[in-house]
Amino acid sequence: MVYISPKEPNRNGFKIMFCVECGKDEPIFRNGVCLNCYLKHTQFSKGPTIMDITFCPRCSSYKHKNTWAQEPFDDILKQHIKDAFTISYELKNVAIQTQCNEQDRILQCMVTISGFLEGQQITEQHPLTVRIRRSTCDVCSREAGGYYEAIIQIRAEKRTFPKDELKILRSTVESLVGQLQKSGKRGLFITDFDETRKGLDFFLSEKATAFSIAKKIQEQFGGEFKQSAATAGMKDSKQMYRMTYLVRIPAYRKGDFFSFDNSFFMIVSLHENKVRAIELSSLVETVIDGKDIQPSKIFGGMELVREMIVVSQSKKEIQLMNPRTYSTVEIQKPKMVSIDTSMVNTVKLDGYLFLVPG
Ligand SMILES: [Zn+2]
Ligand SMILES: [Zn+2]
Repeated sequence: MVYISPKEPNRNGFKIMFCVECGKDEPIFRNGVCLNCYLKHTQFSKGPTIMDITFCPRCSSYKHKNTWAQEPFDDILKQHIKDAFTISYELKNVAIQTQCNEQDRILQCMVTISGFLEGQQITEQHPLTVRIRRSTCDVCSREAGGYYEAIIQIRAEKRTFPKDELKILRSTVESLVGQLQKSGKRGLFITDFDETRKGLDFFLSEKATAFSIAKKIQEQFGGEFKQSAATAGMKDSKQMYRMTYLVRIPAYRKGDFFSFDNSFFMIVSLHENKVRAIELSSLVETVIDGKDIQPSKIFGGMELVREMIVVSQSKKEIQLMNPRTYSTVEIQKPKMVSIDTSMVNTVKLDGYLFLVPG
């Protein structure tokens, strides 16, 4: 029943209406009752009292819908509550808060849902039991099963790897993988790894990522890049391929000395197939195609460098003394070079002595 006095308009010209519930002459909000009475009888949110959340103990990720994520438990719980609870659209600026006590993988939680209706704050509480279920996630079960989509092979041209170089290559690949995992590539992992003096093999779970890592290695260390595919059975009625990405690092390394085209050079840097080198008699820098260096003579690197004492110098020549044998030698100075140190680095290549740049 709604009490209406049709003949008595109020100050604003509206008909005065009385709330059927409390009888006060408050504005009627809905169904004949005032806002206060409406709020008393309306539930704005409801949800289950028990909820399961799946957790992978191997990588500490939680399952939400059909994906796994390494997110804080509070965030995961809120996502589950948003999915499982129905919250009235009338409620504006909804906030969800939770408070939980854990005991034996069971959490006793209080879910507080609050929001605003007509400027009035509404807060509702729901007790919720959360059971933590343990299950190995998709990525961890793949990893445990030795899954891989691609192999990165790192080899060297016409040589074996010294230990220090293997160490650098290995840590470069591992830190690239680590960075990508941190940036959200959850499905990326190194399944297996093989190291010999001939090179390194990395078995990786994602071929596209393996490709980009192999490309980065080639960019950084120079050399050739080759890829090949091998069939690896069927998956979902599709032919699967495993990729091999081969990076063949050059026979030469940064800092190596080589002869080419009747001149002698030192390698400054490598980039894919290009070699930046300094011609030793002129100290002029040049870029040479890596393929052109292949048939030339590579002498070695910094192990060939000897320190010598500067005895005297003129515009064009410099006299040097071997600090162990005291024998002296005079060599042509590269143009424009003035030596202002008492010792210089030199290298002897095919009987010719050169100053080592930088
Ligand atoms: Zn009322
Ligand atoms: Zn996992």
